[in-house]
Amino acid sequence: MESGCIFCKILAGQAEASMVYRDAQVSAFMDIQPVNPGHVLVVPNTHAEDLAALDTATGRRIFEIAQQIAAAIYRSDLRSEGINLFLADGEAAGQDVFHIHMHIVPRFDEDGFGLKFGPDYANLPARAELDLAAGLLRAQLGT
Ligand SMILES: [Zn+2]
Repeated sequence: MESGCIFCKILAGQAEASMVYRDAQVSAFMDIQPVNPGHVLVVPNTHAEDLAALDTATGRRIFEIAQQIAAAIYRSDLRSEGINLFLADGEAAGQDVFHIHMHIVPRFDEDGFGLKFGPDYANLPARAELDLAAGLLRAQLGT
């Protein structure tokens, strides 16, 4: 447990949460500031600040449970015409609690939520630029 981490406090039973799911690796509870009703967070039970600190087995489990919760949202009476899975890694990406977490956000037409694209988004890059980026990533992956 990381002192000062609100998610660690929730997992230790020292802070209130509306729990949805818990197993040996991950837990899921309602976001206290939901984008829409039914907004759930899935977190690793062991503190991991970001993706780099998260072991891949737990990462797989987070996605697996997020997928099951998304299906549960669709089956429930919560309004949901679509669902976003969203994970913010780092402050620049919008991470606000530094205990990595996956958002599961029910969506519906005109709910007011969305991603905001930058000013250059409409300008498609040249293939050479995409190939360059792909090469940089392949070098890091060792593929
Ligand atoms: Zn934590």
